[in-house]
Amino acid sequence: MITLERRPLLMVVSAPSGAGKTTLCDRLITEFDSITYSVSCTTRAPREGEIDGKSYYFLAQEEFDERVRNGEFLEHAVVHGNHYGTLKETVHEALAAGRDVLMDIDVQGAEQIREFVHEDSGNDWIRDIYVDIFIAPPSMHDLQLRLWGRGKDEQDVIQRRLVRAQEELQCWKDYQYVIVNDRIDDSYHALRCILFAERHRVRRFTLSHVPSA
Ligand code: 5GP
Repeated sequence: MITLERRPLLMVVSAPSGAGKTTLCDRLITEFDSITYSVSCTTRAPREGEIDGKSYYFLAQEEFDERVRNGEFLEHAVVHGNHYGTLKETVHEALAAGRDVLMDIDVQGAEQIREFVHEDSGNDWIRDIYVDIFIAPPSMHDLQLRLWGRGKDEQDVIQRRLVRAQEELQCWKDYQYVIVNDRIDDSYHALRCILFAERHRVRRFTLSHVPSA
């Protein structure tokens, strides 16, 4: 008997801070329990309410550096002055269990994974399952209002995030999909549609031969 088996997706979502990425990713994870959220490592201090091992793995700089040296990261980057990285093990374990993986990482991390995808040597496994999406704010003015409005950060932090956002926005063209997050429900609808369409691409499937009884 011949059956078609779907391979799990490796989905990367990037956005400037304040564009609504966390809200969209949280909604996706809540709705689809077949998706594993890739918990990253970071050297930044936990914010109120963040749980080690759930929001992030909070590491001391020395431990982070040690893991870099050991080649444990699929990608890693410095974002807003702190180190962030995705452990290969986190992604491999989820994919091996047949689960779609959602990675919320910055534009530098996405760029590293894309380079890895396009290398010639034996990276086909990732090429066939990779999808990336850029979430953009409707305008810089809108982003500024959102960052002020959420009242999470100090004035100088907001200013730095806005400067960084200008740079990150330049990267939108490198992604396969872009969602301009004007209205959150419409954006979520778009994200869901991307997920469904990507799950049904022909190259996601493999043929397996199951011996008949
Ligand atoms: P925050 O500290 O506000 O949670 O995240 C700051 C930025 O770091 C966000 O843009 C987020 O996407 C990015 N980020 C989180 N985890 C990773 C990671 O593992 N790798 C990279 N490159 N960026 C990450």
